[in-house]
Amino acid sequence: MTSEKKTVSETLYEEAEKIIPGGVNSPVRACGAVGATPRFVKSGQGARIYDEDGRGYIDMCGSWGPLIFGHCPPTVVKAVTEAAKLGATFGAPTKAETTLATLINKHYPSMEMIRLVSSGTEAAMSAIRLARGVTGRDKIVKFQGCYHGHADSLLVAAGSGLTTYSVPSSLGVPADLAKLTVTCPYNDPVSLEEIFKLAGREIACVIVEPVAGNMGLVPPEPGFLEAIADLCQKNGALFVCDEVITGFRVGLGGAQALHNLKPDLTVLGKIIGGGLPLAAFGGRRDYMELLSPLGGVYQAGTLSGNPLAVAAGCAAIGRLETENPYGRLRHMASELARGFGERAERHRLPVRVNQLESMATVFFTDRKVTDLASAQTSDLKLYAAWWRGMLEKGVWLPPSQFETFFVSTGLLFSEVEDVLDAADLVFADLAKTR
Ligand SMILES: *Cc1c(COP(=O)(O)O)cnc(C)c1O
Repeated sequence: MTSEKKTVSETLYEEAEKIIPGGVNSPVRACGAVGATPRFVKSGQGARIYDEDGRGYIDMCGSWGPLIFGHCPPTVVKAVTEAAKLGATFGAPTKAETTLATLINKHYPSMEMIRLVSSGTEAAMSAIRLARGVTGRDKIVKFQGCYHGHADSLLVAAGSGLTTYSVPSSLGVPADLAKLTVTCPYNDPVSLEEIFKLAGREIACVIVEPVAGNMGLVPPEPGFLEAIADLCQKNGALFVCDEVITGFRVGLGGAQALHNLKPDLTVLGKIIGGGLPLAAFGGRRDYMELLSPLGGVYQAGTLSGNPLAVAAGCAAIGRLETENPYGRLRHMASELARGFGERAERHRLPVRVNQLESMATVFFTDRKVTDLASAQTSDLKLYAAWWRGMLEKGVWLPPSQFETFFVSTGLLFSEVEDVLDAADLVFADLAKTR
């Protein structure tokens, strides 16, 4: 028996596995959920990425959200290159940090004061610490299926009911800490009201993805976000909007502008770094003034407000302001969503497509997807087979059913057609083998 020759990616993966756990620096990249091994990426340009074997793909993952202009947008490349010539990091304040904070504040007026950090995890973790510091309360509420980074308090799963304690969803998270996080189904204001009835005076904050992107795309139902804001206000808890994905994605002003919300605290990341590691949290001035060095809530970072990341962020936001690409992005995403739905139906495959602005998910279920429980009715084997088929045809989708794909301005309308043609062929194959 002759074994097939290994691809460059397969060889690189074997080498990586020897020194990096699972061969990856973030678990979903391992492609385990879709029964594959990762393709190692060499470069990207516009909406295309190229692997180490020289194969090209239409990139519908966009590094999980940051790349709204696709790869290597010239304005961002130029800004980063010029910043690098001046020095990578100083550990002292720079002018551009105020410029970026001011830019963010212009579009997110609820963020009266802003602190820059390096990752969404850090920003969400810090916002929660601040909420606890502001209120003097320990409990927090999060929604099942929402992701806010991997801080201990946020890696919890629901207990068997609203009244039972949450349990850690990762080894290494103390059960005593998990107990302080109450989980609630997404799009379920009645359960949230119940939680406030039971524990209202102990709850420091409710944190939510205003459009959920981490159980696949699940938009908020009418009134859901408003109900959260209202319950928080009535119970003296802070309303924390995690706009790490939605910020500058669903529009310049994020979901809070679309829904006319004024969160107490907001968390941003992904797009605001233009592809470099940058995130931010901010909100009401009197709350933010409780942060060190002004107040008693400690928070710090050696590379916070890093000059290269800040330069990239300013360039990306500047370009979003001048180009305002949201109409075109929405148009392409809705063409894709409609096209996927029609083609799946033609081949009698159970598919529901959720789409909002330039984000969408193809769920392999016949149920309407409004929360984690309905998302979990999806046929994961079918998604995995679809993902592998699409990759073979040159379309790079997120390697998990519970993720969102993103459209970038690098994508052409002709490529939308190419993606839909590929989907038609792959759906046909799936229908045959079912
Ligand atoms: C990606 C993400 C985070 C975490 O950001 P990292 O930069 O990966 O730490 C937090 N919240 C949401 C909604 C996200 O999508």
